[in-house]
This record gives sequence, structure tokens and C-alpha cells, in this order.
Amino acid sequence: MEIRNLVCTFGGRKVVDDVSLRIRAGQVTCLLGPSGCGKSTTLRMIAGIEMQDSGEIYVDGKLICDTVFRVPPERREIGLMFQDFALFPHLSVADNVAFGLKGPKEKKRARVEELLAKVDLLRYIDGYPHQLSGGEQQRVALARALAPRPRIMLMDEPFSGLDNRLRDGIRDETLAILKEEDAAVLLVTHEPEEAMRMADEIALMRRGRIVQQGAPYNVYTRPVDKAAVSFFSDIN
Ligand code: ATP
Ligand code: MG
Repeated sequence: MEIRNLVCTFGGRKVVDDVSLRIRAGQVTCLLGPSGCGKSTTLRMIAGIEMQDSGEIYVDGKLICDTVFRVPPERREIGLMFQDFALFPHLSVADNVAFGLKGPKEKKRARVEELLAKVDLLRYIDGYPHQLSGGEQQRVALARALAPRPRIMLMDEPFSGLDNRLRDGIRDETLAILKEEDAAVLLVTHEPEEAMRMADEIALMRRGRIVQQGAPYNVYTRPVDKAAVSFFSDIN
């Protein structure tokens, strides 16, 4: 997937200012930057739930959105995961995971079982969200987002609601599952440590712009300016 020159303006202020980015299948690209720099807005434009003022979005070289033409969100083959896992409280775990699936019942059931096995929650298949811990709900949300085999997975701070002690383990498990499913992942985070742990590529964002991009090691060892040095300095 590729975005080109995306701009989004709120009240005359460019909160996303000429952002271009390419994300590849099987890779995790992290959009990393401080609060308010425009990460979620960028992600929402890709998902199709926010409209850009200018710029284009392409999937496999095919235009899916510019300022006149627009593939609706539900036809973009995108999986979404947000900070609050937003499971449907009245649906069972199985029905949550099956929510975006189409086709015959047995086939859907097989995919649900496959994913719940991957996130190690098969035993809760007939349970309900309120019976699960935060970490377990997060994994159900991951299974739900991946169930329809999205080409693109958009994740907005998906680990920030989790207990500190659980977070690293869940990050690693999530990464392993994402790699298996081979989606192109765009992970939004304001935590350098998370980006360093999970990304194949980091795009460092500040005040609506991407100021540096590259492999985590390069971005970390060769910060673009003093602000980038101080932003990374809280990793230990
Ligand atoms: P955080 O790390 O805190 O989630 P972010 O990088 O995701 O921050 P955004 O949510 O993209 O930041 O917001 C960027 C800026 O745009 C912020 O100043 C925010 O107040 C503003 N903004 C976002 N959505 C809207 C909106 N619908 N109307 C007006 N301003 C908005
Ligand atoms: Mg945000």
C-alpha cells in the first residue's frame, strides 16, 4: 500500500502535512511520534473514515482514494485495531471473531477456530468479552481483525491499554501472528521502545510531517536532529 502527499486540515491547521509512505506485505511499518502529531488522522484517512484534503492512496498500484474517487471503507480489505479493543459485548468470542466473515457457516467456523488457536484462546470460544482479561480481549480483537485476511492491517496504539507486565509478551505474540498472516502492517505508536521492538521500518512523525524514515537501528543510531535524540532518549 502506498500513500502519496496526504494532507488533512482541521480549522485551517494542517494536522497531516504532505505525508507519503509505502508499507509492504509481511512487514511492520511503525508510524512513531509524539501525541498530537497526526498519526491517528493519517491512519483514519487510510481506513477511509476521514477524508483527506489532497493526496492519494494506492493498493497494489491501484488508486483507492483521492479527492474525487473513493473506495468505501468496508471494501478496502483493511483490518483495524484500536486502543480500546471494542469487542461487541453482546456477542460471544466466536461471533466477535466471525463478525467480518462471509460464506458458509462451516468455513467461517474453521477460520474462527484457526485464529483462536493461534492466539491461544480456543477454550474461550463460547465465552463473552466481559469474562476475559484485558490481554485476552486484545488477542480476540487481533483475531477478529485478521479473520477476513486483510491485506492491510492498521493498528492504533493497540497495546497501550494493557498491563505493563503483559505488554512485551503480547507484543511479541502479536508480531509472530502478523508475520504468519503476511499482512502489510501500519502500527501507530508514541513509544519509541515499541517501535524498536516491532518495526521493520520506522517513520518518525512530527507536527504532521514525516521527518525521518528507515530501519529501526538506523533511525535510533542516526537521529535526524536534536528533537529526535530527545524523543528516543527515554528508551533504556
Ligand atoms: P496521540 O498520540 O495523542 O493519539 P496523534 O498523533 O494520533 O496523537 P491525531 O489524533 O492525529 O494525533 O491528531 C492530530 C491533531 O489533529 C491534534 O491536534 C488533534 O487535536 C487534531 N484533530 C484530530 N481530529 C480532529 C477533528 N476531527 N477535528 C479537529 N481537530 C482534530
Ligand atoms: Mg492517536
